[in-house]
Amino acid sequence: MSTNQFLSQTVLNLEESATLMMSQMARDLKAKGHDVISLSIGEPDFDTPSFVREAAKQALDEGYTHYTPVPGLIELREAICTKLKRDNSLTFEPKNIVVSNGAKQTIYNLCQALLNPGDEVIIFTPYWVSYIEIVRLAGGVPVIVSADVEQDYKVNPEDVASAITERTKFVLFSSPSNPTGSVYTRKELEAIADVIAPHDHVHVVSDEIYEHIVFDGVHESIAQFENVRDRTIVVNGMSKGFAMTGWRLGYMAAPEFIAKACTKIQGQVTSGASSFGQKAAVAALLADPNVTKEMMKTFLARREFVIGQLRQIEGLKLSVPEGAFYIFPDCSNFFNKSYEGSVIKDSDQLALSILEGVKVATVSGAAFGAPNCIRLSYAASEAQLAEACKRLQTYFEAMVD
Ligand code: PMP
Ligand code: GLU
Repeated sequence: MSTNQFLSQTVLNLEESATLMMSQMARDLKAKGHDVISLSIGEPDFDTPSFVREAAKQALDEGYTHYTPVPGLIELREAICTKLKRDNSLTFEPKNIVVSNGAKQTIYNLCQALLNPGDEVIIFTPYWVSYIEIVRLAGGVPVIVSADVEQDYKVNPEDVASAITERTKFVLFSSPSNPTGSVYTRKELEAIADVIAPHDHVHVVSDEIYEHIVFDGVHESIAQFENVRDRTIVVNGMSKGFAMTGWRLGYMAAPEFIAKACTKIQGQVTSGASSFGQKAAVAALLADPNVTKEMMKTFLARREFVIGQLRQIEGLKLSVPEGAFYIFPDCSNFFNKSYEGSVIKDSDQLALSILEGVKVATVSGAAFGAPNCIRLSYAASEAQLAEACKRLQTYFEAMVD
């Protein structure tokens, strides 16, 4: 029997995470001595603020080394409610909150709790890589609603309306968006809420993990609109705003029956998030919200720099991202040109060729449902970004018909 025959059909059907795969390729090349600049993974390059680290150390010394309630420590769920009120004017109670091992697991729990085989999930596209696979793992059917660079990658409400069917379970999107950095305005979200509202079997999963990284305008939650409020699940986490990716802490605020269902799943799968990590999250969430502003200012300066550099590459189509730390250029003008004798046909080939040719790791847009694009994460130092942009310019200038 081959090893593949021994594996489940589920894992054989599963795509590997392209973001994690590209960053591993970059690490492997670096380990072999290549001078690789990684703009592949979406991870703040800052360390977790020291007061948060101190809170975890204190929690360990105070004996927070045991299991917690499955949906999270009550004080953390209360802190999350305080944060949602303070930052988003949303009213939730601890019974609505479930804390998990990252927003990724939060979305996994939701899909396992809500989807029956054949149920449809409308996913705004470009989408974050894992949405599709997590929906599929639960037997759901992803339904793509796309927006291109000319629309700043923001979907038309009419397209959402026409994608809704009897089988639609929920609509799933992130704003600020990974991979595009686009941020939906209040008006745009209201128009989307208006098309969903009449279909009372349709819920909304609003992934707001980049809410603290918004440069133009302010972060708005679709949960603010009364016509969809009771059917909206807000997903958020500590990874991006507080530079806590390795802590694995995310959460949802959901109608009670959904929170209970996700708690049931979590109780059989992980038992919950780490106890001392949860104590640190309390400190982070209850701190002055300005703590996240310093990182935001740094990301803004980097966005300005990288956009300025990429504008000099003739042929790239750019949408200026209003948030997160990604730039998602449309590179389709370069398809069917060649680099050092190899014809580049699509974004997969382009991302690999850029990595091999000039040692810059990006992620192919195909992984995000946008095969005309590549994603650059500018969560890297100014020196690395300057060098990476120089190399990208060299690469694209070397392409010939
Ligand atoms: N949602 C989006 C849009 C993301 O980019 C990520 C990537 N980290 C996540 C959710 C998951 O984050 P985590 O599991 O680290 O909380
Ligand atoms: N969300 C980040 C990214 O898109 C981290 C990697 C991941 O979780 O897939 O790069």
